[in-house]
Amino acid sequence: MNENLKAIRSSGTNFGYCINCYNGCEHGCLYCYGRIARKMNATKWASAEPRLSVVDGLKSDIKRLNNDPIAKQAIKDIMVCSVTDCYQPLELEHRLTRQVVELLRANDLPFTILTKSVLVLRDMDVFSGYDKCRVGLTITTLDETYRKQLEPNTSRTCDKIFALEELHKHGVSTYCSVEPITPCPASNPKEIVKRFAPGVVDLFEFGMWTPKIQKAIPMLRYDEKYLVSVMQD
Ligand code: SF4
Repeated sequence: MNENLKAIRSSGTNFGYCINCYNGCEHGCLYCYGRIARKMNATKWASAEPRLSVVDGLKSDIKRLNNDPIAKQAIKDIMVCSVTDCYQPLELEHRLTRQVVELLRANDLPFTILTKSVLVLRDMDVFSGYDKCRVGLTITTLDETYRKQLEPNTSRTCDKIFALEELHKHGVSTYCSVEPITPCPASNPKEIVKRFAPGVVDLFEFGMWTPKIQKAIPMLRYDEKYLVSVMQD
């Protein structure tokens, strides 16, 4: 039944399901997987557009799920968003992510946020006290010059660190996605981990990449052997 839903889609990843509120992403990351997956050039990808039907689609999905408890129980996690950033600047105006997470919480559905923007803190009231959500931020490097080269329109690293600390302070389950790890010395995953006081981040994630994307961006390295050597060194 869940394949007939409108806004909640199968993600094709461990998350099971996802909701995407925007097409494209204004953050402009050099290594963007979404842009490559969607075969779009950088300019078109950065001219992101809101998916205005997502909220009505989700309301319709929720109605169906509330009438089918088995289908609802089968949803173990929903990634918000999987192929774009849910808190990119457009969210300030459109508030689609805000409406989506409010609906998910009001209907007892689990979700995971992953973003590179401190705008996520605006919705602390939705996350706090809800044990079926977790909120992650991606931190690629502690070096601001390198961050601006890799992901020019994301929040500053110090602000992303602050966001995770605030989320933790408010009792929200946190995670930190440390990726992509590149051969550049400024990409230093161990220093990122050490930057946090114990317990602030509930889970660190170190990413692997698909050979297809690795081929498209030769300057990045995602092979497992390399990642293991970086972490053990
Ligand atoms: S934040 Fe994510 S979706 Fe947006 S440009 Fe960067 S990698 Fe792509």
